[in-house]
Amino acid sequence: MEEKNSREISLQRAEELKTRIEDFLVIKDTIPKGLSEESIRKQEEKKKKILSLLNATEEEWKDWKWQLKNRISDVDLLSQMIKLDEKEIKAVKQVQKKFRWSISPYYVSLIDDDNKYCPIKLMSVPTKVEIEKQVGSIDPMGEEFTNPAGSITRRYPDRLIINVTNECAMYCRHCQRRRNIGTLDQHTPREALQESIDYIRANPEIRDVLITGGDALALSDHVLDWLLGELHAIPTVDYIRLGTRTLVTMPQRITDDLLNILKKYSPIYINTHFNHPLEITKEAKEACDKLANIGVPLGNQAVLLNGVNNDKYVMRLMNQELLKCRVRPYYIFHAKKVLGTTHFKTSVDEGIEIMEYLRGYTSGMAIPTYIINAPKGKGKTPILPQYVISHGRDYIKIRTWEGEVVDYPNVKSKPIEDILK
Ligand SMILES: *Cc1c(COP(=O)(O)O)cnc(C)c1O
Repeated sequence: MEEKNSREISLQRAEELKTRIEDFLVIKDTIPKGLSEESIRKQEEKKKKILSLLNATEEEWKDWKWQLKNRISDVDLLSQMIKLDEKEIKAVKQVQKKFRWSISPYYVSLIDDDNKYCPIKLMSVPTKVEIEKQVGSIDPMGEEFTNPAGSITRRYPDRLIINVTNECAMYCRHCQRRRNIGTLDQHTPREALQESIDYIRANPEIRDVLITGGDALALSDHVLDWLLGELHAIPTVDYIRLGTRTLVTMPQRITDDLLNILKKYSPIYINTHFNHPLEITKEAKEACDKLANIGVPLGNQAVLLNGVNNDKYVMRLMNQELLKCRVRPYYIFHAKKVLGTTHFKTSVDEGIEIMEYLRGYTSGMAIPTYIINAPKGKGKTPILPQYVISHGRDYIKIRTWEGEVVDYPNVKSKPIEDILK
């Protein structure tokens, strides 16, 4: 009798839980994603068109050096590949006088002509608001003042960044380091890299080194092999992280040669930058799989972007899709006020709402930390919906993911030796 009762209660609760994601289950199928049959067909068609315009072969398409060399930065050529109206073309011509743009043929092939506001297009093709709105700062993180040696950015006690290049396979329209992009691709000179390595060797509290740029994987295999080898040989460096968007913008970069280099210097972590489910394609997934298969843990650092992913359903779906590719959502960054990118800005409340509809509703593994980079380089600051409602004398009031308020004991622990004596 009692057993039946508990089963009944459980069944009732299960019904209630279903209603918590009814809305998502309906909307999920309407969100475009890179692995749907329709997207795969469209990408394939677009690829054929691009290959014929560039007079190139499938073999060349698979070669990252070809992808990099053939980045599109001519709007007349781009307008033959994707649908752009006269106004849009004119805007690109105006913006490019001030800000560089360039898109790998692969990333162009993901642009959907049936959506004037395709998220892939928004992230890669310049729009006139970039130069119309003369607001925003060039360096809101004050990175200029955190460079103790070589090409290092040091803002934390036990870890730092080495900036190795300003080159990327695609220059994101929302780039928060736009000031570094300039007009030319420049790898950091070997002497500055050497100086950075020497600094890390001389400061043994640095145990975590991030290699980024630009895009860490814009470096040649040869330079990467050398740099990783030097860092790996420093006994006080516990692990190395690479920051790269090539998994998203040029997945051809993940070659067997690269994998063989990465294998030598384990543990290496890679953080990438997916912002929308449309970016999770067959090619991107293959690249992620290859890295995961050799034991490189993958993380995702998304940026919360107006018109791209400032939507609780899009973010939830993207994070679920990422986990299928063994990429663990790590951060969602709040977009800072960087000159030329302010049309992407959202309110902080929009970010908090996204977080609110992740916790409880989906796997904890699909929940990144929402981060505001405090002004002037004061550091990453986590932002969460409020779960602690108030503090009592020896209890706190907390709120569950479903909004129920409960009291919870909060009594200071006694020393273990006092308890056990
Ligand atoms: C973001 C960042 C790091 C890494 O921070 P984690 O929270 O450890 O991922 C390190 N150094 C600088 C300067 C950074 O901006």
